[in-house]
Amino acid sequence: MLEVDIEACTGCRVCERVCPFAAIVVDPETKKARVLDNCTLCGTCVNACKFDALSIERKAVSKEELLMYKDVFVWGEWERKEDKIKTKNVVFELLGKGRELADKLGESLAVILAGKDIEHLTEELFYYGADKVYLCKHELLDQYSTDGYATVISSVIAVEKPSIVLYGATPNGRDLAPRIAGRLALGLTADCTGLDIDESRQLIQTRPAFGGNIMASIFSPYTRPQMSSVRPNVFPKPKPDKTKQGIVEEVDVKLSPINIRTKIIEEIISQDEGIKIEEANILVSAGRGIGLKENLSLIYEMAEELDATVSGSRALIDLGWLPHPQQVGQSGKTVAPNLYFALGISGAIQHLVGMTSSDTIIAINKDPDAPIFKIADFGIVGDIFEIIPEFIKMLRTKKQS
Ligand SMILES: Cc1cc2nc3c(=O)[nH]c(=O)nc-3n(C[C@H](O)[C@H](O)[C@H](O)COP(=O)(O)OP(=O)(O)OC[C@H]3O[C@@H](n4cnc5c(N)ncnc54)[C@H](O)[C@@H]3O)c2cc1C
Ligand code: SF4
Ligand code: SF4
Repeated sequence: MLEVDIEACTGCRVCERVCPFAAIVVDPETKKARVLDNCTLCGTCVNACKFDALSIERKAVSKEELLMYKDVFVWGEWERKEDKIKTKNVVFELLGKGRELADKLGESLAVILAGKDIEHLTEELFYYGADKVYLCKHELLDQYSTDGYATVISSVIAVEKPSIVLYGATPNGRDLAPRIAGRLALGLTADCTGLDIDESRQLIQTRPAFGGNIMASIFSPYTRPQMSSVRPNVFPKPKPDKTKQGIVEEVDVKLSPINIRTKIIEEIISQDEGIKIEEANILVSAGRGIGLKENLSLIYEMAEELDATVSGSRALIDLGWLPHPQQVGQSGKTVAPNLYFALGISGAIQHLVGMTSSDTIIAINKDPDAPIFKIADFGIVGDIFEIIPEFIKMLRTKKQS
């Protein structure tokens, strides 16, 4: 329930202006805010009140209330590439998993799609499994902002009451999901590597814990919706069904500049960020076994011959030999190339969680007991400084013939 602290309320009317549901008014006589019956508890006004005069007391969801929450929702994140707006791949991956969860629950799968010129994205979302798209269009959603997106998506969640909401654990997803969880007082399990439904219809959220040494199953029994984020490349992208159609429900978005406390003045893409190991077809990944920073030139030489991208284990990032965007693993990126070379990498669990989705893994390590060999499709026990130069020679000869 939304409470007004009458003493603290100054009657400034900011809450009136930001509420997407016209559910709070300032009484002209008392000059104090008054909450109306149609309040959805979306939390937007609580966030906007500068005088801390508003608060929401949230209680654990009762068994009866649990039944009101239905359907699996996915946040439809998109990106602008060369002036074209495209859905992020992780959304399709989440739709694949979301479809599986929704079918197990006998519920629907929907996407919350927020932005400005985004209608053209809906068709493809249906092809990848969505039954419905909540289309939230507004000038102020043309660029991502924490406040703008959290306000709109929290409002949709508060009204539609889904049982599960999934987010891509992208930079914006990592920013948005906790904001919504905070606003609606929900649980959030970040960086899930597995999602399933148990016999009591609860979401089982699996993720590495304690430095990756155990896989924990996390439940949110007292709050709804259950919310999880999943990194790109963790779940496979399903095959699109171009005959599948769905329903587009246009949401009446009420957003004003006062809702958004930040302004993007300029966007500068970092040089390092330009290396997208998560999108590479072939990755040549180096570990501490390369010995010296100068030896990375051999790795780059091999990558050039294969038209591949270079990545590395955390050991090399900690040493400052490669930048963080090129790190594979639990505290780096999750990758799923067609071909992954692990060169002088031992295969610690924190590395493996980031690359086991690769189609084919080739490992070279001089230690025959290195854990990397347990998951490699092809393993070569030997010295990378003997094997890689021979391999490069072989590739060059093949190219010339
Ligand atoms: C919370 C947490 C998060 C972490 N996140 C990540 C992460 O995201 N990514 C990650 O990678 N790690 C991560 N780690 C670190 C991880 O536990 C390992 O320490 C790290 O992966 C080891 O990197 P490495 O395999 O390159 O080095 P090492 O474990 O030192 O292995 C080097 C390997 O090279 C082999 N070798 C040596 N010389 C040669 C040679 N000439 N030819 C062939 N083989 C050779 C050795 O036999 C050895 O197996 C994390 C750890 C923690 C606690
Ligand atoms: S924003 Fe806060 S202080 Fe202003 S009218 Fe609303 S409750 Fe009162
Ligand atoms: S919680 Fe949401 S719906 Fe309720 S008054 Fe505040 S902004 Fe309006």
